[in-house]
Amino acid sequence: MTDALSIHFQLLARFRIIIYFPDSKNSNISETTNLCIGGLELTQKEIEKSEEEWKKVLTPEQYHVLRQKGTERPFSGNLYYNKEKGVYTCAACGQELFSSKTKFESGSGWPSFYDVISSDRVRLKEDTSYFMNRIEVVCSRCGSHLGHVFEDGPAPTGKRYCINSISLNFKNEEEKGKKNKEGK
Ligand code: FE
Repeated sequence: MTDALSIHFQLLARFRIIIYFPDSKNSNISETTNLCIGGLELTQKEIEKSEEEWKKVLTPEQYHVLRQKGTERPFSGNLYYNKEKGVYTCAACGQELFSSKTKFESGSGWPSFYDVISSDRVRLKEDTSYFMNRIEVVCSRCGSHLGHVFEDGPAPTGKRYCINSISLNFKNEEEKGKKNKEGK
């Protein structure tokens, strides 16, 4: 590869390219492609739905938390006590967000993690509601509200991602492995 071509690819790799699909069926979906040096290409779809569309696919309780930044009652979520091995996904779009390996007992009443699977899976936003200064955590793929992140978590990150159980679904690792063995 010539030097000029190599530089061109390196420049491309530093920018995020967004391709829009203007057809009527998928007008609310854009595809984000992250080009990586070394020929590895990663793609991830970003989802944009109208609030009416979200209401159709979420339960009223999910809609309130995920789309209206609500908070479930502490100790009420079905994943708070979950200790199974697996992956926690966004309940709105299915993106994989947290691993059971980073889940810990915070005593807060909400599922808590000290890290995300990958930093690009969430976006962090300043939240000054209720006269508090907090950092909101939203899904990077669909923009849904997940919870907040605090700086009082355990090592190695010191972070505590305090996430509403209702904002998550859980994929059990053993069931996934079994399905793969069965060729499903
Ligand atoms: Fe999502």
